[in-house]
Amino acid sequence: MTTTPRTAIVTGAARGIGAGVATRLAEDGFAVAVVDLDETACKKVVEDIETAGGTALAVGIDVVDEQAVQAGIGRIAEELGEPTVLVNNAGIIRDNMLFKMSTDDWDSVMGVHLRGAFLMSRSAQSYMTKAGWGRIVNLSSTSALGNRGQANYAAAKAGVQGFTKTLALELGKFGVTANAIAPGFIETEMTAATAERVGMTFEDLKKEMANRIPVARTGKPADIAAAVSFFASEGAGFVSGQVLYVAGGPQG
Ligand code: NAD
Repeated sequence: MTTTPRTAIVTGAARGIGAGVATRLAEDGFAVAVVDLDETACKKVVEDIETAGGTALAVGIDVVDEQAVQAGIGRIAEELGEPTVLVNNAGIIRDNMLFKMSTDDWDSVMGVHLRGAFLMSRSAQSYMTKAGWGRIVNLSSTSALGNRGQANYAAAKAGVQGFTKTLALELGKFGVTANAIAPGFIETEMTAATAERVGMTFEDLKKEMANRIPVARTGKPADIAAAVSFFASEGAGFVSGQVLYVAGGPQG
């Protein structure tokens, strides 16, 4: 086992993929900051981690808010430990065809995915470079390859890939890796909302998607958590600047 400080931050961790990732990293031995917009909403995930014998802290941070990011990461360093793993998972969708997409819907999607990942990474990297060890994992999406109704989200998720590769170039010599995971269809409230938007039940959408996915099923948060666990591991130290499509078949 390494003597590296083992504190991880997962944003957007009150539910969905983020909750799955936080739980998995706690199982892997990390003390985990469960970060989301509303601190109270993080408490259930923290309780579940603690019940299973792990260590976690609920922290309310809007990742778009520069001061909240700085204060929140400072609090995590003090109360939980100096962070050496950061998973930029917080995300939103504001889907619409281009001709109907509002400027607000464009800006808010860019804000959470790009500004959010930037602010969190800039703040957290100081602890990682100081420790000489760090892992940044950013959530991209198969939508980065283009997806009807998601001009804003596709642009943001493609941006996340360029951001990740650049962090890998800049931070590598400090022992810090940066990688991206691009999930396909994962069962969460985000995809449930997509079903509602296209006028289908979630069950019907899941069936339709499973028919199109080579492994013949839809994904679960644990599928993404397993990939994050690898990137955060000691053994992945020579893997950096990569985009791993976790989509039940070939993509990218
Ligand atoms: P979700 O909507 O279930 O959860 C997202 C979480 O992020 C929520 O708890 C939300 O409160 C939080 N969040 C939103 N804005 C925030 C902000 N400004 N600050 C802090 N927290 C904020 O979504 P999910 O399906 O679990 O998705 C997680 C990540 O994976 C997102 O980045 C998403 O784009 C990406 N992704 C999801 C899928 C999928 O199929 N579900 C596919 C590809 C990529």
